[in-house]
Formats: sequence, C-alpha cells, structure tokens
Amino acid sequence: KSPVIAVDGPSGSGKGTLCQKLAQHLGWSLLDSGALYRLVGLAGVKHGIALDQEAPLTELARDLDVRFEPGAEGEPTAVILEGEDVSDVVRSESTGELASQVAVLPEVRKALLGRQRAFAQAPGLVADGRDMGTVVFTDADLKIFLTASAEERADRRYNQLINKGESVSLAALLEDIRARDKRDSERKVAPLKPADDAVIIDSSGLGIDDVFDRVLAVVRE
Ligand code: C5P
Repeated sequence: KSPVIAVDGPSGSGKGTLCQKLAQHLGWSLLDSGALYRLVGLAGVKHGIALDQEAPLTELARDLDVRFEPGAEGEPTAVILEGEDVSDVVRSESTGELASQVAVLPEVRKALLGRQRAFAQAPGLVADGRDMGTVVFTDADLKIFLTASAEERADRRYNQLINKGESVSLAALLEDIRARDKRDSERKVAPLKPADDAVIIDSSGLGIDDVFDRVLAVVRE
C-alpha cells in the first residue's frame, strides 16, 4: 500500500501551503479534501438545492463532475466543475462558508470517502483536511495536526485575501474563523480534533519555512 501523510487542522493554520510544499518536495500527490466540500457547496447552489437537503446533496457529491487540471510549472491547479472553471471562486471565503454547511451532513461525507481514498496511489499521498487522520486515512503512516491561534489565522487569511484584491475586514474574518472553528469542532460527524496518534504542531509565530522544516524532521524520523 502507498504511504499517506495525513495533515489536519483548522482553516488558516497553514495546512494548505504546507501540504503543497510537502507533496512537491516528496514528489507525491496532494489531496485537497476541503476543495471537495467546497465543490459540493458550489454545485448545490448552482443546482438550486438548499444546503441542508441531505439526499440531493449526497447524490451531487457522489456524481460530482470535477476535473483537477495541473497548471504549468508554478501555476496553480485549475478546478473544472461541470465544465466550468471555478478555480478562483472555489477558494473564496463565501465558498468556504458553503463547504462548512454541507460538511455537517453525514451522508455527504460518506459519499466523498471513496473519491478521497482513491487519491492514495504510488509513490505516496499528502492528504490535507479536517478528518484525514481520524476518518479517511486512519492507517496513515504519519498524522500531523497543524494549528495556530485564531488571531494569527485571521491575520494570515487577511493578508492572503488583500493580496488577491478581495476587500475584507480583519474583525469580520476573526469572527468567521471562530464561528467556523466552533461549527467544525462541535459537529456530530467527523468533528475537527487531532487523531490520538497525531503529531501536534502549533504554527503560531512560525513562518511557513519553519513549519516545513519541523514537519520534514518528523517525516524523516
Ligand atoms: O480546508 P477548507 O477551508 O477548504 O475547508 C472548507 C470547509 O470544508 C471546512 O471549514 C470544513 O467545514 C469542511 N471540511 C471538512 N472536512 C475536510 C475538509 C474540509 O469538513 N476533510
């Protein structure tokens, strides 16, 4: 079986960047599981389905027509949903909100299991999410739980969005992050928490390179 590194943690912990760097460094594939929840949310809205309608959303999740097209050197992967390029909108704050609504539905989560597990192929997989180590890849070779204070995560997200030209308020972001943390950690199904055998890394006050070095040291052990 191919090796899997499961990386979980709250939004803004630096997981996404860390996982990209790690996958690139190791030459492994990358699973951005959050993108799948985001895509189900987007597809739901597109099809006029209310985001608490478990049955139709589960069907959408099962049949999700999505392609990930690797970009040229240094370019991000394009995300094509039902033939439409949603690369930008899929990463937006509002789509994250949609994702966290559909993510509370147990049948939707189940419908996405097979699709996520199919990413585990040679030479290896770096899996980025909330429940990679606790649900999807319970037998992962290494589990990392990356966290950071809510304030620091709001700051980072603020800078990212400002750089992308989105207009946001720091206070509103902090409030959103707190609300989403609460929803993600208190939900009944696959709540956000470290796996018992996860290595916990707090990235508060650390730059991405420091975090990467720390993780690489653990990977080499
Ligand atoms: O990581 P990202 O911000 O893309 O995730 C968006 C939302 O999708 C999260 O807030 C969470 O509610 C949900 N999610 C999840 N399980 C995952 C990945 C994401 O519930 N494995």
